[in-house]
Amino acid sequence: MTTAFITGVGGQDGSYLAEELLAAGYEVHGLSAPGAPGRPTTGVVVHTADLRDAAAVDALLDEIAADQIYNLAGVSSVALSWEQPVLTAEVNAVGALGLLEGARRLADRTGKRVAFVQAASAEVFGEPATSPQDERTPIRPVNPYGISKAFAHQAAAVYRGRGLHACSLILYNHESPRRPPDFVTRKITSTAAAIAQGLATELALGNLDARRDWGWAPDYVHAMRLAAEHPVAGDYVIATGASHSVRDFVAAAFARAGLADWERYVRVDPAFLRPVDATELRGDASKARDVLGWTPTVAFDELVARMVEADLEAA
Ligand code: GDP
Repeated sequence: MTTAFITGVGGQDGSYLAEELLAAGYEVHGLSAPGAPGRPTTGVVVHTADLRDAAAVDALLDEIAADQIYNLAGVSSVALSWEQPVLTAEVNAVGALGLLEGARRLADRTGKRVAFVQAASAEVFGEPATSPQDERTPIRPVNPYGISKAFAHQAAAVYRGRGLHACSLILYNHESPRRPPDFVTRKITSTAAAIAQGLATELALGNLDARRDWGWAPDYVHAMRLAAEHPVAGDYVIATGASHSVRDFVAAAFARAGLADWERYVRVDPAFLRPVDATELRGDASKARDVLGWTPTVAFDELVARMVEADLEAA
């Protein structure tokens, strides 16, 4: 039986990945930070430790002796990384390095193949000079989150050079009804649903012009599994190839919630503007398609529809 270890198992991606691996018959262990909010998945063996606690993480890696390690834990939002830049680096960057080193020791000690998958981010590209971006686009982050993800991404390549099956997936924004409402997509869909049901009256947002490449989160965790199981380790951009503005997302979500004239409800609040914000992030996932056989299954309109429907039902 294949054993997998997922850090950040209570998050959007961790929960979807755990479900996929359990359905495939894997033994799934997960790591949750003490006090972390999250979604328990039935069937997962959950361990509680802070990624900054290297001794605890090492002991768990030894005990579980996983065949596949997925590092999905961390400070997951750009906005939060400006408030907690040092914490972001400790967890996302140093934490990832500790896991890579632990995976290498485990592979050396047991002689077995240990696959490591790092969840990197399009934020490693900062304000890219070319669009779409691919695996050869220069790494040039512009915020603390991007720095931390760039470090982890490059650390995975270094360990791959030492013989570990280490992959880093440069994930573009990926969303679902499980996205916490401090991310813009879920903030929009949950508020549009609340307005449609008379439970809210307005939506305060920051930069409406930012363009992002939004995909369906379960597709993105499936790419992680394909990378872990491919015979050759590598880095992959995971994206849909299409970008839309925050404004486009608002218009589509309000229309789906049955609200004509979204402009009546939306107010721009400078509190949600960021010190720097990439104009457009859009990925070219040709390598993932050609090597892993991966393709996204849910396009923009369907993504918006699924999120709005889920919020209308929940409200
Ligand atoms: P992330 O930047 O990849 O962590 O994802 P977000 O969903 O937080 O942000 C995506 C884009 O939406 C960024 O360009 C933000 O500047 C923009 N945005 C505009 N208004 C808001 C807002 O009210 N909240 C958030 N989180 N993002 C916003």
